[in-house]
Amino acid sequence: MTGLERRRERLSEALASVRERIAKACEAAGRHPDEVELMAVTKTRPATDLALLLDLGHDMFGENRPQEAAAKVAELSELRPGNAARWHLVGRLQRNKARSVARWATRVESVDSVRLVDALDDAVRRAIDAGERPGPLPVLLQVSLDGDPERGGAPLGELPALADRVAETEGLELHGLMAVAPLGVDPDQAFADLAEAQYRMGIYHPRARVTSAGMTADFEAAIRHGSTCVRVGTALLGDRPLTSS
Ligand SMILES: *Cc1c(COP(=O)(O)O)cnc(C)c1O
Repeated sequence: MTGLERRRERLSEALASVRERIAKACEAAGRHPDEVELMAVTKTRPATDLALLLDLGHDMFGENRPQEAAAKVAELSELRPGNAARWHLVGRLQRNKARSVARWATRVESVDSVRLVDALDDAVRRAIDAGERPGPLPVLLQVSLDGDPERGGAPLGELPALADRVAETEGLELHGLMAVAPLGVDPDQAFADLAEAQYRMGIYHPRARVTSAGMTADFEAAIRHGSTCVRVGTALLGDRPLTSS
């Protein structure tokens, strides 16, 4: 076996075992497995890994750095021309990167301020005018469940205004909420708070139904509390280098 074949084997097994964990968590929660999408968080991983995942039938990727993501989009289209990969941005976005992100992102999950909403809306409308993207950009509002602004996300109290702002734009579509469970907090409590926020947002924005929650260590808890998209890195692709979490 070549190195690439071995890697393909490893990824195939990991994909099967994560899907199994998702299926079990859904069953325990009385939910259908089709209600929960799996995103492979591929930050720090080489494009060759993404190509193998595509070959294995997995096409939804999460990246946390716009520059790294843009480079990988280009590499993957060389490795697998015409591929149908879906690219989700799950990390901090600075407004000056919005124009680039508008070209390749399928969904941005880290929207947490009015200023970012306006910058992204502007960037997306320009990208559409320039023929660089086919239509509006779906976004999720990132929620800070412990109110620590250092880790990104808007406090719960700011969500209603932020949601209304997104809904007023031409370039963006509000699809739901995203959160990372805070360190040192019971994930069940964190995801219950998120579910409550999702419920309240649904009263005014009934089409915003996505809840992006749960990572390698806590996605079962997230599924118990209604997550519709789990973002899994380590359990699929192995440990990341310590320097770049
Ligand atoms: C890295 C990352 C993940 C995946 O984390 P794992 O613990 O490796 O599964 C999920 N969501 C976000 C926002 C991340 O930055």
